Amino acid sequence: MQYPTVKILPGEDRRLRHGSPWLFSNELRMDADAKALPRGSLVRLMSGNGKILGVAQFNPHSLIAARLLTRNKDALIDRGFLARRLARALNLREKLFEAPHYRLVHAEADGLPGLVVDRFDETLVAQLNTAGMQALEAPLVQALNEVLRPAAILARNDSAARQLEGLESEVRPLKGELPGRVELVENGLTFLADPAGGQKTGWFFDQRDNRRFAAGLAKGEAVLDVYSYTGGFALTAAAYGAASVTAVDSSAHALELSAESAARQGVAERVSFERAEAFAFLDAAAQAKRRFGLVVADPPAFVRSKKDLGAGLKGYRKLARLAAPLVSEPGFLCLGCCSHHVSMEQFAAETWAGIREAGRGGRLIRSSGAGPDHPVHPALPETAYLKFLAYALD
Ligand code: SAH
Repeated sequence: MQYPTVKILPGEDRRLRHGSPWLFSNELRMDADAKALPRGSLVRLMSGNGKILGVAQFNPHSLIAARLLTRNKDALIDRGFLARRLARALNLREKLFEAPHYRLVHAEADGLPGLVVDRFDETLVAQLNTAGMQALEAPLVQALNEVLRPAAILARNDSAARQLEGLESEVRPLKGELPGRVELVENGLTFLADPAGGQKTGWFFDQRDNRRFAAGLAKGEAVLDVYSYTGGFALTAAAYGAASVTAVDSSAHALELSAESAARQGVAERVSFERAEAFAFLDAAAQAKRRFGLVVADPPAFVRSKKDLGAGLKGYRKLARLAAPLVSEPGFLCLGCCSHHVSMEQFAAETWAGIREAGRGGRLIRSSGAGPDHPVHPALPETAYLKFLAYALD
């Protein structure tokens, strides 16, 4: 089978040759034939000198118009192809983790553009974030069944990314029933997640290693976890011996799940939950002269698009400025940033500026990213979206 051909403009195949899987619409010959292709079509990409460079997903209505699936020009993108990519992704995770709870597929970095799959053992939660991946839904479900034999597959297709691709927002089982609460084991602790009703896929696996690191600083300390969600940082700190933990979030639903996990883990006595807006909470806690040996703040993305960059960076600075006064002298401040548009350098500069504005000094003891089940595509710096900084404050 031959997929239709889309031509790359002369000289515009440079990044592709250096390993990038993306071509922007201004790098392709968008003639009438190309524009007429349905969103999500599979195409063969042809260089200016007539050479076929591989097979890609194509969306003529998206800024990222082509996403390379393979450099094999004769490849058939079918159940077998998808199953091989899934098996490769699974093989890596099985080396990394003992329990079957992790990000199984991290999109471009796992050779499956637009696809995210989080695994809660027998329950898979997928996001089909591009028109190309959406068009492959049927063979994808077959491939997931073949490689993993899950009891349930849920499509959490309500991401903002889908809007850019012209796709509708929906949450729908692709196999089995709509899952209720699921259990997951992380750093040896059992947590509860709600894949259908929680944020994103229900759990943020990306912070696994950072949670364990932060928890190591928590022994015997009072800990504050703002933007706590379902307790990833808070309960890990409690399990590692924090004297007391305060978990703050604006979502009652998230705090309820967190409280249930705390009860199951047997740490409920040492954890208290406060439903509050983060900045207001930090302000009030400073007024009340509360102090914590460890403060963790891992907020939602403050920068969702490039035009929010200035305001978002100010937000990270303000967060550090409001959180630093609550850190005991000495103590630790851990800050997370999941905005794709913010670099580690920017995040470090803004948070340090905020710490200085609060009149504190200290040193950086860790700067890291997401765990290895969120691989980074070496040619797509955007895929290193998570930044995590741990400061020791004097
Ligand atoms: N740290 C968490 C992930 C945080 S996700 C973890 O390790 O899993 C972001 C969280 O911030 C969500 O739970 C959301 O409910 C909460 N949130 C968003 N805006 C907020 C605000 N202004 N004040 C307090 N919480 C907020």
